Amino acid sequence: MWMLVPIAFALKLLSAFLQPLGSVWSSLGPLFLQLRAASWLAGAERSRQLQGRREAGEPGRAEGEGGGDLPTTPTSVNYHFTRQCNYKCGFCFHTAKTSFVLPLEEAKRGLLMLKEAGMEKINFSGGEPFLQDRGEYLGSLVKFCKQELQLPSVSIVSNGSLIRERWFQKYGEYLDILAISCDSFDEQVNVLIGRGQGKKNHVENLQKLRTWCKEYRVAFKINSVINRFNVDEDMKEQINALNPVRWKVFQCLIIEGENSGEDALREAERFVISDEEFEAFLDRHKDVSCLVPESNQKMRDSYLILDEYMRFLNCRNGRKDPSKSILDVGVEEAIKFSGFDEKMFLKRGGKYVWSKADLKLDW
Ligand code: SF4
Repeated sequence: MWMLVPIAFALKLLSAFLQPLGSVWSSLGPLFLQLRAASWLAGAERSRQLQGRREAGEPGRAEGEGGGDLPTTPTSVNYHFTRQCNYKCGFCFHTAKTSFVLPLEEAKRGLLMLKEAGMEKINFSGGEPFLQDRGEYLGSLVKFCKQELQLPSVSIVSNGSLIRERWFQKYGEYLDILAISCDSFDEQVNVLIGRGQGKKNHVENLQKLRTWCKEYRVAFKINSVINRFNVDEDMKEQINALNPVRWKVFQCLIIEGENSGEDALREAERFVISDEEFEAFLDRHKDVSCLVPESNQKMRDSYLILDEYMRFLNCRNGRKDPSKSILDVGVEEAIKFSGFDEKMFLKRGGKYVWSKADLKLDW
């Protein structure tokens, strides 16, 4: 009996204490619920907006570009799987600093990762991409990207000197575009630039490749680097005769550590031209409808470049700073350090009709 008195007292005290708490909860409870609902709705709205921006084609940004919040999509990737080359162009901005090439299966693994991250176009480049295993390594990757990954566009940039007809016979059907570098239609100028190999004539070779592209239904493209030795040339006639789907015209670019500076393998300073000289070249060729000009600024930040280790190369500071390899950290993490400006990529017309099925070519 004596025990029941303190228990009853304690219960009374507790109920007196809980009463105000209950009234506090009854007034704050709905407020908490409203706050939670508001934050959930804000999150849902943000996701919806991001989705809308993606669908509207708004680009994401890489790190260091003002806090963009969409992950960058590697829509179009340039994979320089080798740095080795048989030419010695004086302004080369991807020089033979290593002889490393990934094992084929590792390269395929990386390409699959890129495809899963949104890649639509792959361009294989070098160095000279036909040098590795006499073009078989390149052919295997081209076939894999078209047949297994079903990429809308598979292309190659090459100096053209090592391509044989049997390569077209074996792999031509898997290739959308072949771009051949040609800076001059004067063989002497090509030799001065370093695009020469003994008795082989670069210009004659170009004609042969044009014919094969037509025969094996590969879209043909020409890339030219405008520099001190070809800046006064008039190429209208030859380009019109070759009739490429695109003629990409680049302004000679200095990249620290590649073609300029102490540890570089080239000294490109003597090849450099001014913006005015580049403009004058473009003006002289303004009637060539397939011409696509590429100034230094556009080149620096509107390309996604992967090196031989599958590291993105950031060219923003005038040199090539590598990210970690996508094979080690994944595409989303590595691409943050690529320096890639997706807006500039779209502005320079980086996304064009790049599948031969859509090009509707009169072969
Ligand atoms: S062909 Fe291309 S990769 Fe080879 S040396 Fe010339 S610019 Fe460099």
